Amino acid sequence: MIEAGDLLADRAYSQLSTAILRSELPPGTSLSVPELARHFGISRSPVREAVQRLIWDGLADYRGRRGTVVVDIDMSDFLRLLEVREVLEALAAKLAAERGTDAQRTDLRRIQKEFESLKSSDADRWVFTDIDMRFHATIRAMSHNKDLDATLARSQGRAHLSLNTLWRRERNFRATQREHAAMCDAIVDGDTDRAETAARTHIACLRQRVLAELEDHDRADAS
Ligand SMILES: [Zn+2]
Repeated sequence: MIEAGDLLADRAYSQLSTAILRSELPPGTSLSVPELARHFGISRSPVREAVQRLIWDGLADYRGRRGTVVVDIDMSDFLRLLEVREVLEALAAKLAAERGTDAQRTDLRRIQKEFESLKSSDADRWVFTDIDMRFHATIRAMSHNKDLDATLARSQGRAHLSLNTLWRRERNFRATQREHAAMCDAIVDGDTDRAETAARTHIACLRQRVLAELEDHDRADAS
């Protein structure tokens, strides 16, 4: 049951990363695999996988004997990461429009249709994450540039942290659907300029959504 295990690891990863972003698991908190497995009511291996992904994504830190702990996330670092991603996603989309195979274009269109068939962000949160990851992964693969693919794959994990809190909001969900549609159309059409612009817009808007969400969060904290 490799798929079920992956799904459990995905879920554990999403829950842990959300908890980290919302400071429910503050910096320095121990991420003990046996304890987390008990908490989630699942076996240790998907939890171990989730924790390894947190380390890989720079959200957790392995400290030898002390085990793995939550790192101190600097949101300004994260927003700067999105500045980089804005440029790299635009490049990936441009190359994808130019180099993507017909089969990959069909794949991308199919993933986008899946996304458009989702009615709301709340009911399908995990489906949404999965689709979003596959959408961006397909574009990266279509760029036929391994270095670009690897760089973006890593930053996407951290970017997804912000999505964890964002996708719950209907307006963010709808905006993402529209932005992905514009990217998909341009890439499938092979329009490099339009693809580049659409991808840049998507990440720039994502950055704005993160900022707006942080402001809401601060306001809620102050009241
Ligand atoms: Zn996206």
